[in-house]
Parts: sequence; C-alpha cells; structure tokens
Amino acid sequence: MGGNVPERNLVEKIQAETDQIIELLRNLVELESPSHRKDLVDRVGALVLEHLGAQGFTPQVVSRKEVGDIVWAEWGDQEEGRILVLCHMDTVWEEGSLARNPFRVEDDRIYGPGVFDMKAGVVATLKIQEYLARGWICPRRKVRFLYTTDEELTSTHSREFIEDFARESDLVLITEPPLPGGDLKTTRKGVGSYVVKFHGKSAHSGLDPEKGINAVEELAQQIVGIHSLSAPALGTTVTVNVVRGGHAPNVIAEYAEATVDTRFRTLEEGERVDGELRHLKPHVPGIRLEIEGGIDRPPMVKTPRSEELLQSAQEIASELGFDLGEGESGGGSDGNITAALGIATLDGLGIPGDGAHAWHEHIEMSALAPRIALLARLIERL
Ligand SMILES: [Zn+2]
Repeated sequence: MGGNVPERNLVEKIQAETDQIIELLRNLVELESPSHRKDLVDRVGALVLEHLGAQGFTPQVVSRKEVGDIVWAEWGDQEEGRILVLCHMDTVWEEGSLARNPFRVEDDRIYGPGVFDMKAGVVATLKIQEYLARGWICPRRKVRFLYTTDEELTSTHSREFIEDFARESDLVLITEPPLPGGDLKTTRKGVGSYVVKFHGKSAHSGLDPEKGINAVEELAQQIVGIHSLSAPALGTTVTVNVVRGGHAPNVIAEYAEATVDTRFRTLEEGERVDGELRHLKPHVPGIRLEIEGGIDRPPMVKTPRSEELLQSAQEIASELGFDLGEGESGGGSDGNITAALGIATLDGLGIPGDGAHAWHEHIEMSALAPRIALLARLIERL
C-alpha cells in the first residue's frame, strides 16, 4: 500500500469519534463486573448486545449458570477462513471499587476499575464491529467476535467454547492489554495454581503438646522447599502467597494450608513443578499431605505463524505512524488456551496503559485511535 495518507486518515477518522468512544468506555467501566457476580457481568453483556444489535449484528448468547452469559457474533460469509477476536467482560474488581476509583479522565489518562484489563479492549472490539458495519473495514475472511465472562477466573466456564471457536478459526486476535509501552504479547507464561493442605492433630499446647501434630510447623518447613522449585534461569517461578492455619493460640494446629502459584515458559517446566508438588514429603512425623489444583493454562510460545502475524502488525503500525514492540507476559490469558491448540495467536492488541489489577489502572487516551486502527487494518490484511 502506498500509503501513509489513507492510513493516517483512518486514525483521524477514529480520532474524530473520541468523545463517543470515551462515553462507551465510561458506560462499560461504570457497569462493575467482578467475575463471580453473574448478575453484574450480565449487565455488561446486555450493553454489548444492545450495542451490537444497533449496528445490525445478530449477536448470540450462550447462557452460563455460574458466570455471566457469553456473547458472540460473526461478520461476513467469505470463503477464505475466519479470524477470531477474543475479549472478556469480567474484571477482578469487586462491586464498590468504582466509588473509590471513579471513571475519570486526567490529562491523557483514563482511570477506573477494569479500564485497562480490559474494558478498553471490549470498546476496541465493539468499535471494530461498528466499522465493519459501516464499511470502513473490508476483511478477506469471516470475523467472529467472542465476549467471555470468566477470564479472571481462568476461563473454566468458557474454555470449551474458546477452544471450539479457536479450532474453527485460522488465527486469533486478543484485545487484552498490551505490555507497558504498548508492546504486543507474543509469549505468555503458563500458569498453575494449587492448594497444599496439611493435616495434623490438635492438642493443648500447654498440657500435652507432645500429643499434637503441628500442621503450621509443617507448613512453615514446606514453604522454603516449595519456593526452591523455582528455576529463575528458565523463567519458572513457584510462590506461596496465601497461608492459613490453626484456630487458637493455645491449641496445637490441626490444619494448615498454602496456595501455590507457578509460572513457566515451557510445558515441561510446568509438569516438572506439578510432579514435585505432588511428591512433597512431610517433615513433621504424622502429618498427612493433600494437594488440589494443577496447570490452569499452558504457556503461549512463539511459532513461525505467530511471528508472521507480529510482522504484519508491526508493518501496519509503522504505516499508522507508531512503533510496535513485543515481549513476554508473566500473566496468563485466553491466548494461552488458543495458542496451545496450535492456532496462531496475537495477544495484547488492547489499549496501552498500565496498572492491571491495581488502583492506578489506566489507559492512554491518545492511544485509542491508533490502536483501534491497528486492529482494523490487521483484520483487513490477514
Ligand atoms: Zn484480561
């Protein structure tokens, strides 16, 4: 394509709608949607349905009992295959977070619970659908849009659905937040989570402590060993982050438990840690160990096809007038699921900002138009 002129025009056209885009973002952020609150997440789904209906789409709803209903829609009837665009409507923020951290624009930053992860990505996805309907984007392939509702709970209730849709697609674009600086996420670590349970025996800590088996003592001894399963050189981390145990200061602790979070670059490493955790041996005589959990998400690794996708994205970005880098995320996403099926996946196509899952979470307002334009052109060119 000869050109910077038409490309810049697209950014300008989108820029001219900034007020509308921010209003849509405000509406989405002000509908708080913690993953475990089906009633609240469904309000976001209703807004998405209404918006898509108004654009001439016929969105489909997949009802879920425990989490919000999934929404999806498809555009086009081209023979040439299909692109899947994937985003999630749930956030990690509890109801009431908005009161402490209201939606607001300060200079170039837009703040609010879930704005970065990933209500802004939902807005980008909705705008792409709008631009398809307006004829601003003319893709070669069919484009399917999927709005899930339990990504922040590792997508248990949408996983099968994501996998089926990914298998029916040639490539997957994920509008999750990018890395700091706006870089795309071309690799993601895999994630495992566990609860290790220690069963001991209670006794009076003063009268007959020798009759007890102290589960908290066992837990304390295990933590250091569990952390030592990390392999920093390989990028493997294993951390205990929540512990619980005992019930009274003068009772030998009968029970204790520890959560274990693990991140790894290769499935082999994930399986190594999984195996070691399952073979932990008690230090304190008489303790019984129990372990729950496992690998939630396999790692997203780079493939020749995902490298090609990245290059296309970088070319488009430079036509649009900005640089686009790439990198690794320690956090998992639905990209781990689709990439594990061997479907080329490009992740981090949302709006640049910072502070996912933190109170200073924000996006950069001036990045809205260029990033939505990037997504538009990617869909067109791939
Ligand atoms: Zn997310």
